[in-house]
Amino acid sequence: MPLEILTIPCLSDNYAFLAHDAETGSTALIDAPEAGPILSALSNKGWKLSHVLLTHHHWDHVDALPDILAVHPAKVIGAAADAHRLPPLDQQVAEGDSVIIGNETGQIIDVSGHTVGHIAYHFPDSAAVFTADSLMALGCGRLFEGTAPQMWESLSKLAALPDDTIVYSGHEYTQANGRFAETIEPENADLQARILDIAAARAENRPTVPSSLALERATNPFLRAAEPAVQRNVGMQGAKPQDVFAEVRARKDRF
Ligand code: ZN
Ligand code: FE
Repeated sequence: MPLEILTIPCLSDNYAFLAHDAETGSTALIDAPEAGPILSALSNKGWKLSHVLLTHHHWDHVDALPDILAVHPAKVIGAAADAHRLPPLDQQVAEGDSVIIGNETGQIIDVSGHTVGHIAYHFPDSAAVFTADSLMALGCGRLFEGTAPQMWESLSKLAALPDDTIVYSGHEYTQANGRFAETIEPENADLQARILDIAAARAENRPTVPSSLALERATNPFLRAAEPAVQRNVGMQGAKPQDVFAEVRARKDRF
């Protein structure tokens, strides 16, 4: 049975997620932006936290951890490369390692770029990947620490996951991302349709996260740096995808 995954809006635009294995009762929290909504979700469901999976060290992903652990003692997992600046970890992981949540195994993917040491958690049996601030809905995280080629490599690993993978990313930035995406690929019909869907969802205050990897590949400009249309539109036909990605990322920073 796949994990039951709950999306929890936190702070002004963050998302945390609970992933629950019904057979064993194990429940993992992915990132800890704000204790209140996460503790309410746990008590509404009657779930007891067993694991916390941290994606990266930024405050809006870890700050609520002590308040959550005070109510739900759980095993805290995060990147070995980030252990020096993450809260105390019970298990340190790196790419290729796995984490066990009940009957499910998650694979660690290094998605450095936004920060160096940012990791994603992929649960193939549940077709779920938790990407936080690496691959985001119609966007990607700003390059605070890593380089453009490094982020391109990270995004390429995520893009290679199966089509039906659902992408659980860390922020509700999708509508603004759409306004930028349109400037890169105005003729993309899938993108136009998605922008309308996003507007409808946001008008009703519905989250646009998670999204499907197939949709991200079809519409997310940061995954499309190898597409002839994107290369033509930024005047870089035939350039290396990592260089086109760098140009698209730089344009987003100025947008
Ligand atoms: Zn971040
Ligand atoms: Fe963040």
